[in-house]
Parts: sequence; C-alpha cells; structure tokens
Amino acid sequence: TANKETLGFQAEVKQLLQLMIHSLYSNKEIFLRELVSNASDACDKLRFEAMSDPALFESDSELKIRVDFDKDARTVTITDNGIGMSRQEVIENIGTIARSGTRAFFDNLTGDSKKDANLIGQFGVGFYSAFIVADRVTLTTRRAGLSAEHGVKWESGGEGEFTLENVDKATRGTQVVLHLREEDAEFANDWRLKSILRKYSDHITLPIVMVKSPGYDKDGNITPAEGDETVNQASALWTRSKNDISEEQYKEFYKHVAHDYDEPLAWSHARVEGRQEYTELLYIPKRAPFDMWDRERRHGVKLYVRRVFIMEDADKLLPHYLRFVRGVIDSSDLPLNVSREILQHSKDIDGIRAGCTKKVLDLLGQMAENEADKFATFWQEFGQVFKEGVGEDHANKEKIAKLCRFASTQADTDAQVVSLDEYIGRMKEGQDKIYFITADSFAAAKNSPHLEVFRKKGVEVLLLADRVDEWLTSNLFEYAGKQLVSVAKGDLDLGKLEDEAEKEEQKKAADDYKALTDKIKEVLGERVKEVRITHRLTESASCIVVEEHAMSGHLERLLKQAGQ
Ligand code: ADP
Ligand code: MG
Repeated sequence: TANKETLGFQAEVKQLLQLMIHSLYSNKEIFLRELVSNASDACDKLRFEAMSDPALFESDSELKIRVDFDKDARTVTITDNGIGMSRQEVIENIGTIARSGTRAFFDNLTGDSKKDANLIGQFGVGFYSAFIVADRVTLTTRRAGLSAEHGVKWESGGEGEFTLENVDKATRGTQVVLHLREEDAEFANDWRLKSILRKYSDHITLPIVMVKSPGYDKDGNITPAEGDETVNQASALWTRSKNDISEEQYKEFYKHVAHDYDEPLAWSHARVEGRQEYTELLYIPKRAPFDMWDRERRHGVKLYVRRVFIMEDADKLLPHYLRFVRGVIDSSDLPLNVSREILQHSKDIDGIRAGCTKKVLDLLGQMAENEADKFATFWQEFGQVFKEGVGEDHANKEKIAKLCRFASTQADTDAQVVSLDEYIGRMKEGQDKIYFITADSFAAAKNSPHLEVFRKKGVEVLLLADRVDEWLTSNLFEYAGKQLVSVAKGDLDLGKLEDEAEKEEQKKAADDYKALTDKIKEVLGERVKEVRITHRLTESASCIVVEEHAMSGHLERLLKQAGQ
C-alpha cells in the first residue's frame, strides 16, 4: 500500500538483534515473559491514563492478556487491550532509536548465555527477545483514544530493517505474532506455553488467558474443550496473608517487580492499619542496578491504590537515599484518580513514606544485627547511596548513622566495616570524641600526616574517602552524645588524652620557636592565616590545617571541580 515504508534499524539495535538470535539460545523461553510483561505494562498505562480520561476504555474496561498458538502455521500470538501505540510511538519504542538501556546492556554482558538472557528485562530491551524464537515478528497496534484507521502494522525479520504500514484495527491495544523458526516449533504447544506462563508470569495481576486445554474421555480419546481459562493466579501477591506466601513466591515476585534475575537480599511485607491503611512489600536487592546514579532511573517502588496500579518510581514514596529499594505499596486511602501533582502534596503519602522508611531501616537494622554477611553485601552495594541519608533524612539521622560502616585506622584497610558503636566501644580511656579524616582517596586518608599523633597514642581514626563522606560529616556533628571531630581541622584538642606534662611542653615549644613561626608567617604572607607549633605530627615536618569552621580542604577541592 501507499503508506507502507521500510526503515532501517539503528546500528545498536541491529547488534542487539544479532545477539538475541545467535547467542541467547539457552534460555529461549524468556521471550514469553518479556512480551507478557510488556502487555501488562501497557494495560497499567491505560488504566492510569483512563483515570483522567475514562473514554479511553472504549467500553472495554476488562483488561487482560491473551496468548494463542497455531501449530500448523507455527505461530504464537500475544494480545493485549492496553494503551497501544501510535505510529510515532512505534518508531520511537521499537526500532529506530536505541533506547538508553541498550548501551548499558552491552556493557553488562557476561558471555554466559543464560545470565545474559536474564539481563534483557532489566535494560529495557525485552521486546527484541521475540527474535530468539521467531524469524519474523508482526506487531499490530492501535493507541487508545485514536480511531480504528489509526492502526499501525510493524513487521521485521530481525535482520536490518522493518516495515511500517497504516492499517485498520477495530480494537485498541497491541497484538504480537511470532512466526517461529523451524527449530523452535515446540513453543506452539498448549502445555509448553502454559507451563512457561505459570513459571514466569504467575504474578502478573491481570488475567492471562488461553484456550482451555483439551481433556480426555473415559476411553482415552482427546475431547476438545470449549472456552478460555485463566492460566495465572492473577491475584496481587502482596494482598495475600504472609502465611500463604512461600519463600519461593516472594523471590519470584521480586524478580518480576524489580526486573532482576537475582534473588533479593531481604524483604519486608506488612499491612499497616491505623491513621493510614496500606500494604507494603519492599525488597532490598542483592546488587545495585546499573542506573543507580542515573537521574533518569527506570525503576522504583510501584504505587497501587486498592490493587490498581497507579505509577512507578514516584520519588515521593521513599527518600532519595533509599532509591535502591524495590517493591509495591498499595494504599487503601488515596483516591483512584491520584496524579503526580496530588502526590506532591499529599499528607497520606507523607505518612506512607515515613512508615515505609522506618520499615526499611528496621529491616536493615535487623540484618546488621543478625546477618552480618548479608549486611556486608548490602553495604558494599548501597553504602555510598545510603550515607546520603544522614544529610537527607533528619528525622532518622541517628538510626541511619548507626547503620553506617567506615574504614578506620584499626584495620588500616579500605574495607568499610566499622560502625560508630563499635568505634565508641573501643575508645581510649579519657577519649570523648569520634575522630575522622576525609580525603580524596583512601591512600591519601591513610597516609595523612594528621594521623601521626593518633597513631602514636593508639587512638582510632575513621578514614573517609567516599565523595559522599564530606556531606555526611558536615551533617553529623555528634553520635550517641559523642562529638565527631575532623583531625585536620582547627586547634586539635585531645582533651584528656594528653596529660599536663605534654601540654606544658607544647606551650613551651610554642614560646621557644615563636621567632621561627613568625618568620615563616612573614614569608608566606597572605597565603596562610597563622603558623603554629603543633603536636599533631611525629614524623612529618609540617602540615596544613583548616580553621575549625572553615570548609575542609577536600570539600574545597570538590566544589572547585564542580565550578563553584
Ligand atoms: P521495556 O518494556 O523495558 O521498556 P521493551 O523492549 O520490552 O522495554 O519495550 C520497549 C517499549 O516498547 C516499551 O517501553 C513500550 O513503550 C513499547 N511496547 C512494547 N510492547 C508494547 C505493548 N504490548 N503495548 C504498548 N507498548 C509496548
Ligand atoms: Mg519490556
């Protein structure tokens, strides 16, 4: 037809397709998980948009996903009545423009076909997994709200190109037809498809429908069944009681909501009653997502209202320093037509956020206490992000600080394993402060001349070299009643750690060498504020010290780098 056009895939997409077809053969069945997950996302999106525009439902509000197959034609078809796509959206979402996750996906490939196949969902390249089993894919779609003649047909053999064509499509939503490769004909099979769906897609909250399996009569003859059946449980896992959910089910659900192939490190599931009523099922992943430092992060906690999906990644649901947490929050109080704008100023949301933050901190607290290995994994992956909380979340500052782990002169390695409580437990007789040093690198911290007197006296010093540590120490002045003090700032007061004789000696030295320090000050002029005799050093001749309330040297350098 006149409106049919042929377009080329972008180089990165082509590369991706090559990989799908030639490398990811050991876990072929995941194509179904990916396509069903897209269908489910599309239904969620429709439901959300329809809240402000009910006409989008077009008198068909029963959202569902269908899976059909045709053994003779060797096809598998996935159909949804979700949001659908316009022609422009098809071009943007599948085909020409490589999506942000594509590059990251390549960077994370391991060469292990099974692992790599599992990465697909995480990086937003799931649709292309269709080509693992199909040598031709036909997608027909129509955006909800557009009229029937705005249907679009996309077709590709997964080589270099695809075609686009305008077609009439009476029903809204998307249909994907997979023309299976000869060697993958096994997937056009009732039992096979149903068992894959039960394995990967049981948690999808919409019904996944297939034609009923045929039965047998008493003579063992096949009797074709009539009608459809729902293959998955289609119930929201989090609404079930804890006792009815197995460990396995919790883990599978995690993989689904977090788009992760690994198991979670820990989770918290609770129904909260009282002023606010909501259910939370929150997970701590085992590994940081690839885009943890990315402003345009793809995933977060999903918000539901009475089991209806509202939105994902609502930054309002948890503070920024807990952005690695995954899972769902289902509110009983919020209105169904809640929008992002409403969420910004909702007291209900503030309450949910405070409650969920507490739950996560408690979960981590228990982990720190009872499962040291797990906590170490957590700290390794998320410690840097978590430390932001000391400055961000004033209400929970002490709790957060308690969970923080640092390197120190005790072990003198860069392993962050020392808690503030542990530090306090090891304090010297007469010591009443927590000492730390911040630097650009662990080596710089560890070798700082400022540590000399502390090493001599056997006083432990925390060695802080993460970027976020400046932010942490400029927000945490004391912990458990003990002041935190930088060893590189001000007139170092070691308090009772020094005896009278030492103090006398210092005073005398300052007097004796006054002529010298005056001379040095004269030479350095404006560049320094003061030159004085110090007891900080035992080996080095001199060091630079910052005034008590001035920025530390490290922070000053960071700000300069940032162009301030
Ligand atoms: P992801 O789902 O992680 O975004 P995919 O490669 O699976 O990545 O899908 C790419 C995009 O294509 C989706 O984000 C969505 O915009 C669009 N898409 C895919 N399948 C459908 C569908 N069934 N209905 C509507 N849009 C879809
Ligand atoms: Mg997807």
